Amino acid sequence: MVASRSSQSSVRVPTGSSSTAKEMDVIVIGSGIGGLTTAAQLAAYGCTVGVLESYLIPGGSSGFFERDGYRFDVGASMIFGLGDHGTTNLLTRALDLVDTRVDSVEDPVQVHYHLPNSLDIRVYRNYERFIAQLCDRFPSDAIPVRRFYDECWSVFNSLNSMPLLSLEEPACLLRVLGSNPGACLNLTRFLAVNAGDIARKCGIRDAELLNFIDMETFSWSVAPASRTPMINAGMVFCDRHYGGINYPVGGVGEIARALADGVSKKPGCWVRYGARVRRVLFDDGGKVRGVQLVDGTEISARVVVSNATRWDTFSGDGTQRALVPPEHTPAGEAKFRKRYLKSPSFVSVHLGVREADLHVNMTEASGMDCHHILLDDWAQLESAFDACGTLFVSMPTILDRSVAPAGRHIVHAFVPSWLDEWKGLSTVEYTAKKQKFLNIIVNRIERKILPGLSGAIEVCEVGTPKTHRRFLQRKDGSYGPVPYSKPRGLLSMPFNRTEVPGLYCVGDSTFPGQGLNAVSFSGFSCGHRIAADLGVVQSLPKPIDDVATAILSKYRLYL
Ligand SMILES: Cc1cc2nc3c(=O)[nH]c(=O)nc-3n(C[C@H](O)[C@H](O)[C@H](O)COP(=O)(O)OP(=O)(O)OC[C@H]3O[C@@H](n4cnc5c(N)ncnc54)[C@H](O)[C@@H]3O)c2cc1C
Repeated sequence: MVASRSSQSSVRVPTGSSSTAKEMDVIVIGSGIGGLTTAAQLAAYGCTVGVLESYLIPGGSSGFFERDGYRFDVGASMIFGLGDHGTTNLLTRALDLVDTRVDSVEDPVQVHYHLPNSLDIRVYRNYERFIAQLCDRFPSDAIPVRRFYDECWSVFNSLNSMPLLSLEEPACLLRVLGSNPGACLNLTRFLAVNAGDIARKCGIRDAELLNFIDMETFSWSVAPASRTPMINAGMVFCDRHYGGINYPVGGVGEIARALADGVSKKPGCWVRYGARVRRVLFDDGGKVRGVQLVDGTEISARVVVSNATRWDTFSGDGTQRALVPPEHTPAGEAKFRKRYLKSPSFVSVHLGVREADLHVNMTEASGMDCHHILLDDWAQLESAFDACGTLFVSMPTILDRSVAPAGRHIVHAFVPSWLDEWKGLSTVEYTAKKQKFLNIIVNRIERKILPGLSGAIEVCEVGTPKTHRRFLQRKDGSYGPVPYSKPRGLLSMPFNRTEVPGLYCVGDSTFPGQGLNAVSFSGFSCGHRIAADLGVVQSLPKPIDDVATAILSKYRLYL
């Protein structure tokens, strides 16, 4: 048995401005990667941008915390978008905007799946090596499975041949269309379909292979293939072989720290920590005029961007303290809440372990992989109760030893869990439940990946959905939106503009959804759309732009 202790924070406070101008072009609420990319884009365009972050460091779900010489990633560890070629390397490009970079280590295996019926598959960076395993395991579906992943490449190659800017800025869309009509036409084939539709259309029939493809999408979209847009699947399933998965040296928190420092160095821009926004402020005409912090400070801005989740941004359906009060919350938001549910949160276990006490070789050279996904029963794929669902395990020290003391490793494991599992418990019951989950998780890892784990643990932190809610400021600690029923591909996911004049949303509640590279895309789009609205970049004449944008953004919510 392993002892858990409650999660608290002892983080270093990074450079951040203590003096904040009170009149800004743009205020960004939150320093997640979505918010920071927006800020970086606008700062690069020459706007004055202020970022207000309620926590002590930047990054949100891509932040970090330190304990006893270990530096743990709060959430994300499997990082797309740090490649150095193509157009889909959005994190690299966001860092470029503010003249900075982070060093990273190439991961030769995106993820090692340990699935029911001994289905053991490694997603090698080398595409052919990955596909060969699937063809060996499913010989009767060898042609269809290759056809399916080829369709993913078709999506990816089109995306990777065009600048990824705002899809709701008509001038930008027209430029992309004009410069690359073939790729745009190709993408329209996939806009309204989901990965599961394409898998079946390609002729995949083997139930286990279809389950595997469900797991492939679930691992980042938390939805099976039938509810995951094909455009997203194409991007993720190919970029891992193209730009690859790269772990930032020093931990994932380095990305947000570099972005935030870069933004702070741009003229007239700043990032402020420990600055929680209570609400968005409006003028008499209903246009956004700034924000108010919990300490009562008011900051004026022409534009406000919310990097909080949609449920924390707008009122409705039990949200008590949203940034936008009920009287300013547009009717379209009710539509969003019917169409998208909050996905569950996670129970996260952060372990510091002694290498010498593990009964397995922990080097990459000996075949140990950094990222693993474990499932014992396909029926539990989407389960978010009792720690029996899909278990994600990341061991960043396989790639970067600098994040732990000598002779030690980090094991970060997380399993979906609803906040409801943790409600109404006394302190004693809550602690006991954390211990129970910890034991289940350690046991599952010990059986499949790390024999000897329970005897090797020297540091242990367990975070529950309540921890995620508290430290990440996310309603119910949710991982983000999942479609309630089969969506029309990507067609109904909201872009960045909202129906509230001057208010924009960015991050995983907007197109294209969860993941660091995805929210960075959302940040680029948001920054570009705002720059067009502020007249910083050229757009179509206003009346045409207004009509086209209304169709692209506002009315899509009603599709
Ligand atoms: C356990 C876990 C594992 C994950 N693993 C991966 C992975 O391996 N790879 C991957 O690509 N993605 C992964 N993800 C997903 C990825 O981390 C997220 O999709 C992404 O980081 C979300 O970024 P965001 O910009 O939307 O916002 P967030 O990261 O949620 O940041 C929002 C920020 O806004 C701040 N904020 C909110 N409200 C206010 C307010 N009122 N005032 C001031 N500040 C406020 C918050 O404090 C927070 O810092 C993982 C997520 C989790 C939880």
